[in-house]
Amino acid sequence: MTNAKVLLPCEVDIDKCIALKSTFDGARLDLDKLPRLKESCVQIQGDVCAHVSFEQDANGLRIVKGTCEADLLLTCQRCGENYVEHVLSKFRFTPDYERAKECNLEQKYDFIELNNEGKIDLYEILEDGLILEIPTVPKHDEDDEACARHGSSWQYGALDAEATTSPFAALASLKGSLEKGKNSD
Ligand SMILES: [Zn+2]
Repeated sequence: MTNAKVLLPCEVDIDKCIALKSTFDGARLDLDKLPRLKESCVQIQGDVCAHVSFEQDANGLRIVKGTCEADLLLTCQRCGENYVEHVLSKFRFTPDYERAKECNLEQKYDFIELNNEGKIDLYEILEDGLILEIPTVPKHDEDDEACARHGSSWQYGALDAEATTSPFAALASLKGSLEKGKNSD
């Protein structure tokens, strides 16, 4: 482990990156520029890291591909305790949608738009990818002994009582009141 990781740039010029055969190998993302990921978990643990490479394939499609991973502190919906979930997102994007369609390759890639300066926003696509990997119902592994209610039956009432004392209480109670609102219709 090294703590001298390269910081991944937010915006990159895909043509330049392809020409220079740029790769970012284990680059760190600036956590302050991942507000939506921060909101989607209790806390981001350690670094969010990405491997990103750029290439032009035989059909002339410009491609950005790689992986991005993070350890996220989530609240287990079974026992109400926080736990760390490792999320890994694999991505393969191209800005050349029309060309991909002509080659019948549009299913193979996700499409990204270039901004006004002809650049791509790496953080936006990586952040989206990680958020999509967060489980809809976060919970400890089935056989994780850390799960406080492991083996015992679980009740919503007990979960609510614990939620009010956890650091996630504000969000949990907000979610609770939204759900109550929904049910009262
Ligand atoms: Zn649990």
